Amino acid sequence: MSTINPEGFKKESYTQMLEEKDKILSLIYDTVGDVIFALNVNKAGEYIFSSVNQTFLNATGLKREQVIGKNVKDVIPEPSLTVVLGHYRTAIKTKSSVSWEEITPYPTGTKIGEVRIAPVFDKNEKCKMLIGSVHDITESRNYAKKLEESMEKIAQKNYELEQMGYVTSHDLSEPLNTIQSFSMLLKEEMNNKTGDEAKAFKYLDFIFSATNRMKTLLRGMLNYNIIGKELELKEVDLNLLVDSVLQDIAGTIMKENAEINVSTLPSIKIYESELKILFQNLISNAIKYKHPDRGVQIDIKVSNEKEKVKIEIIDNGIGIDEVYFEKIFHVFQRLHKQNEYEGSGIGLSICKKVIDLHDGQIWVEKNTPHGSKFCFTLSKKLV
Ligand code: ADP
Repeated sequence: MSTINPEGFKKESYTQMLEEKDKILSLIYDTVGDVIFALNVNKAGEYIFSSVNQTFLNATGLKREQVIGKNVKDVIPEPSLTVVLGHYRTAIKTKSSVSWEEITPYPTGTKIGEVRIAPVFDKNEKCKMLIGSVHDITESRNYAKKLEESMEKIAQKNYELEQMGYVTSHDLSEPLNTIQSFSMLLKEEMNNKTGDEAKAFKYLDFIFSATNRMKTLLRGMLNYNIIGKELELKEVDLNLLVDSVLQDIAGTIMKENAEINVSTLPSIKIYESELKILFQNLISNAIKYKHPDRGVQIDIKVSNEKEKVKIEIIDNGIGIDEVYFEKIFHVFQRLHKQNEYEGSGIGLSICKKVIDLHDGQIWVEKNTPHGSKFCFTLSKKLV
């Protein structure tokens, strides 16, 4: 207002301009999405509503005449009233604005609001007015609550599914073993038989290999479920860890005459048994998916970064088509028939689960000129 010099205007146009401004302000006052109100503080120290905007009336479901000129005591119901009066007193005492969250049962329903109140003082430092606003956060709070409830339900369902997976894969092994043992016995009895009995001998062979495959799948499922069950974080020298993996699969390495070069690896805080399973899966795959025309060559490289360690397991095998780069990390995803390469399609999903535990990432790239490069990172900040 101080920038406007009334001297330059005719009296009527100045009044007209003020009226225009008033109109704009009251339009803003009544269309703004937040509740705005003003309270006069009378001599008795009571708070009397002197002005409320349309949003106030919409939110509370009250009529203007039920509010204006009324004491807050007659408008705001308990238990909110006691809380609100306490905040008003604090704002006046501290001479500053105060904000808080409030749940109020209005006729239109219970509202959750972020309330802010600012005191206005006269020249004698006496509080004559409080200006308040309420930002309605009912929807976002209800949404957050629903989200939290859904997350809890999902966690519970996840737990139940894990338990079910564990129990099924564990308990199904027993009847499978029985089927396998008896089909073996039958096979032995039918050995050297001819005609229809020889046919039955062949069928038993199918039963035997099918049950074998089921056993591999169940073992995979069991291993998948076990990951993360009993975690123990400790500082481990990765050189020793990889050495012990190579010893465990020494038979396969010798059989395939695989050449494995391992860079010097760091010591890092990890979940040892889980990471061992990861190395085992990745190195075994690098050997299993060898190219028929090339001797197996595997390089294990490392880059030690500030917040993470990145490891690459590079092979010269058959390679993977780019379209399957993501898919292969999902459970039961295989790119080959059982008679081409044996497997359960669980190994890489286990690796993904292990890397999730280490706050890292795992992915595969094409290696040049041949083969695949499996990369993963391990966070150095695990606690
Ligand atoms: P499995 O080896 O038991 O089938 P994995 O989950 O370990 O299951 O691997 C999923 C699929 O990814 C494999 O079936 C194979 O097609 C592909 N794969 C994994 N590792 C390699 C690799 N080093 N080279 C080529 N293909 C691979």
